[in-house]
Amino acid sequence: MFGNIKYVLGEGSLGWRGLLWEKKMRPSERQPRSAIEAWQHRKVGRLLRQMGRIPHWRELPARGRPPRPGDDLREWLAHFPVLTKETIRRAGARMLAPEHSDRNIEWCVTGGSTGEPLRVLKDFSTRVAAQAACLRGFRWQGVDPGDATVFVKGMGRISWLGKVRCRMQNFRLADPLNPDPADTAKIMKMIQDFSPRCLIGYPTYLLRLAEMAAGSGLHVPVIFSTGEMLFPAQRRKLETVFSARVAEYYGSNEVSGIAFECPRGHLHITEEHVLLETVDDCGNPVWDQPGRILVTDLDNQVMPLIRYELGDIGVLTREPCQCGRTLLVLKELQGRLQDYLQNARGNILPAMFFAELSRHLTGIRSYQLVQRTMDEILFRHVPNGPAAEEEAESIRAVIQIHLGREMRVTSEVCQEIALSAGGKMRLVMGLPLKTLQN
Ligand SMILES: [Zn+2]
Repeated sequence: MFGNIKYVLGEGSLGWRGLLWEKKMRPSERQPRSAIEAWQHRKVGRLLRQMGRIPHWRELPARGRPPRPGDDLREWLAHFPVLTKETIRRAGARMLAPEHSDRNIEWCVTGGSTGEPLRVLKDFSTRVAAQAACLRGFRWQGVDPGDATVFVKGMGRISWLGKVRCRMQNFRLADPLNPDPADTAKIMKMIQDFSPRCLIGYPTYLLRLAEMAAGSGLHVPVIFSTGEMLFPAQRRKLETVFSARVAEYYGSNEVSGIAFECPRGHLHITEEHVLLETVDDCGNPVWDQPGRILVTDLDNQVMPLIRYELGDIGVLTREPCQCGRTLLVLKELQGRLQDYLQNARGNILPAMFFAELSRHLTGIRSYQLVQRTMDEILFRHVPNGPAAEEEAESIRAVIQIHLGREMRVTSEVCQEIALSAGGKMRLVMGLPLKTLQN
């Protein structure tokens, strides 16, 4: 109860609404499939009515008829085109509901893996649903609201208010990629004194922390990994160093709270909030084999995302999980293998690091980092304003802080970043990774 109060104090109305939703969602995770599907039908019907008011969706030539009760929603959705980041950028304000009374809407800016920021508007209902999904997923691993938590991440700029809210919710922040030895000792002392119930972070950050903590006997009961592929050996390393249980969860800035790992080690999809499909290259649904992951946010009414392609590959299955939860399982995630920059000493920087950095750029439209050798990186960028040179210099400096001053970073200004052979724009094109994978 005290934990809930701390949580609500830190999160405000989003916190208490999230708690209420989570309570409502608890029984739904074990409902018969027919009840989950009926829930999704109701939400799709509501979304469809809203889409009729939004230019991008209204003008789509093949919107088709509304789904009938009993229709397979994935088959029904197949007549909508796949929604890409590029389509969203081109459509701009035409993706938005014309008017809305929601005062709690929030622009979410994602760096993504392309280095070009994408803006998605989220209303309160989708933020609450994602919050509730997180609360439920964390409870599956025995972590409750208000439990002592350390977010292991790149810090960026944190406002005074942000720091206060962290304290209120019993959160702390740690950035283990910072190479300063004095900071290493400070981070370790903070974690030892704080004695967190869980750590949350990208694998790269968690593993760096594990290197710092090796042999220290530091015990953290639960570690949540997200944002990047977690290799089995990496999972084992985290389990060993921290004597921890390690669980993954899957989401994105644009659509949060997509899937969470249950105690049996399976990623269950938050079907009350998201309809997830895996499709082949023609956009047809596939099961039990690798497919492109598309998500439909069932809650966001202010900027509906239908069949939005996240850029990941996964395997969706109807096989039931032994834990008894009836929510569908995302059996494998194969596409979160991000590229890295590295130096000869084994220090690395993941694409995710730069994806975070991209969110704050105004003078650079897009950029790409290509590692040519172990001591040379090519930095290509497309300028977009007067701040370009200053921002380019700061990115070069960040690389040298983390990978050493001996790393040569050569610049190339270009009109456009070329797509890879697979048709994707890659933020980081690294050399085969020498450390951490094995
Ligand atoms: Zn399960």
